[in-house]
Amino acid sequence: MSQTPGIQKERISLLNSSPLATGGYVLYWMQASQRAGQNHALEYAILKANDLSLPLVVFFGVTDRFPEANLRHYAFMLQGIAETAQRLRDWGILFVLRKTSPEKGALELAGQASLVVVDRGYLRIQKTWRRFLAERAPCPVIQVESDVIVPVETASKKEEYAAATLRPKISRLLPYFLRPIEEILPKRISLGMDLETMDATDAEGVLEGLEIDRSVQRADRFFTGGESEAQRRLADFIATRLKDYAEARNDPTRSVCSDLSPYLHFGQISPLEVALSVLRAEVPERHSIDVFIEELIVRRELAMNFVHFSPDYDSFACLPIWARDTLDKHRSDGAGPRYLRETFEKAATHDPYWNAAQKEMLVTGKMHGYMRMYWGKKILEWSRTPDEAYETALILNNRYELDGRDPNGFAGVAWCFGKHDRPWPERPVFGTVRSMAASGLRKKFSIDTYVRLVEDMATGEKRPST
Ligand SMILES: Cc1cc2nc3c(=O)[nH]c(=O)nc-3n(C[C@H](O)[C@H](O)[C@H](O)COP(=O)(O)OP(=O)(O)OC[C@H]3O[C@@H](n4cnc5c(N)ncnc54)[C@H](O)[C@@H]3O)c2cc1C
Repeated sequence: MSQTPGIQKERISLLNSSPLATGGYVLYWMQASQRAGQNHALEYAILKANDLSLPLVVFFGVTDRFPEANLRHYAFMLQGIAETAQRLRDWGILFVLRKTSPEKGALELAGQASLVVVDRGYLRIQKTWRRFLAERAPCPVIQVESDVIVPVETASKKEEYAAATLRPKISRLLPYFLRPIEEILPKRISLGMDLETMDATDAEGVLEGLEIDRSVQRADRFFTGGESEAQRRLADFIATRLKDYAEARNDPTRSVCSDLSPYLHFGQISPLEVALSVLRAEVPERHSIDVFIEELIVRRELAMNFVHFSPDYDSFACLPIWARDTLDKHRSDGAGPRYLRETFEKAATHDPYWNAAQKEMLVTGKMHGYMRMYWGKKILEWSRTPDEAYETALILNNRYELDGRDPNGFAGVAWCFGKHDRPWPERPVFGTVRSMAASGLRKKFSIDTYVRLVEDMATGEKRPST
């Protein structure tokens, strides 16, 4: 087969042993990497189609039953899909969008394909879907990783204890994996093929036809989905805020972060493209580049390692034994408020700082990263039990964050309860799990300014970074 520079062999795995079929096309089942640009799976599929002198068909299945997804998430995702479908059409590639459970839709189309290429996801549902297809498809199913810099099993064969243990393993592989993909065009156009599809370029029309949870308002005023918007934000971040990232990333009043997490979550931008653009940036503050790369690669890929190797990634049971033991020991510590989930959800605790963080998430679909730590720690402190706190944090995070339901979210919540961390001096409720206090916020930055900023956003102002 011809080689495409930039698609390392470690990204590619054959998921079944079915022989090459004599189908009418190569199928790329797009699931995690919802973009046209810098997409290893798409490029690999084009390469295969060209080698076999077949047209390429790209399929996306939209189910209205994706766990914990609601109107806010669907609207953002479909805006991205509309742009991707349009870009692929411009390249002569047919984009088939069907309302179906994705793995079943992919299997149906696999019936007339020579082979299927699929991108990679590390969450339980994503693995189950791919297994379903691989076990039933009458042709080869090839998985191509495009949403991490270093493929998870190449970086490490086991669950890593913390960033410190993963960092050296990833760092030594970066020169090999940090290479752009050379994009190619299909030799055969598939646009005229007779395959049933919805009009993927009509995001609002598709949205209207879905029977989904519509109880969470859209966040379009703050975030619109799509590859070009992600690229605009990346360019703006590099031009105006990257230089201050090391110094001010933990200050929610400064808004120096990239705000790229919703786009990364839906695969609307390639982490490789983000990393390469930031590494090439001409800013004198090289330390800011290093700190950003640490978050984007080491921290993000530690989260992927966590969900891949820890089957309990979405429950209290995933915590290290020392954390579970100490939280158990302190279960009945009295004092302090105890809130029900509804009180947290309505941003109605006694703490104006915590309420502001919750409100930022409710209104804009994205809470500042530093406030997420305080937010999770206080849910632990003010819930009736640590198990209930764990569930509350995950439910609220996944329901309201545009980047929720992501490995980073599962790892972030787990971190608040001791995962990827070490024991600290013992305290009520937390035991030896690290705690956070409102006084710490006041010391670090003007938390009252943050509270005002969130009020402004709730009453019509834009996010400072948009
Ligand atoms: C309780 C809690 C819940 C979280 N929930 C989510 C979630 O649902 N989805 C999500 O993507 N992130 C989550 N995070 C991690 C982090 O807060 C966000 O990734 C970050 O705030 C996103 O904003 P940004 O894109 O502006 O980040 P930037 O600071 O600009 O960072 C760039 C990218 O690096 C990655 N990154 C940054 N910080 C972290 C981190 N601590 N861990 C892993 N990757 C990181 C993200 O992909 C991010 O988009 C959570 C953290 C905590 C403590």
